[in-house]
This record gives sequence, structure tokens and C-alpha cells, in this order.
Amino acid sequence: MDLQISGEYVPIRDKPFACPICNKGYMSKDSVRRHQRMECGKEPRMRCPHCPHITRYKSNLVSHIINRHPESEYANS
Ligand SMILES: [Zn+2]
Ligand SMILES: [Zn+2]
Repeated sequence: MDLQISGEYVPIRDKPFACPICNKGYMSKDSVRRHQRMECGKEPRMRCPHCPHITRYKSNLVSHIINRHPESEYANS
């Protein structure tokens, strides 16, 4: 099953500020700083909105939601 979730991630062409550690691009220096504080180097990033489940990949999270929370909007979209 291949779900497309719109409005979740928009690729940004214009990202002049990159994290020196993982090279991820950001619009502003503050975003890079927040990224480094909040997520850089931390593996789990995708958090289930319905339970404490955390996974690294969005596809895993989507299957988790479909399996565990079939009532959710993710599963119905
Ligand atoms: Zn980083
Ligand atoms: Zn969940």
C-alpha cells in the first residue's frame, strides 16, 4: 500500500542554512539550531499522533497507524 499524505512535507529548494552535522538544509539559522537541539543525531523522528509509538521512517509510521489506529484519518485517506 502506497499512501500519499499531502501537506506533511514540502521540499524546500531554498535552504541556505545547513546543519553542519547531517547536512540537512533549513531556511534560517534558528531552524538549524532548533533542529540540532531537537532532532539532529536522534534517530526516532516520526511520532504517532495517537500513541507514544516512535519510528524513524514515515512509511513505518503510516503502516503502524493503519494497523493500530484504523479509525484515524491516515488510515482512511
Ligand atoms: Zn543535523
Ligand atoms: Zn500509534
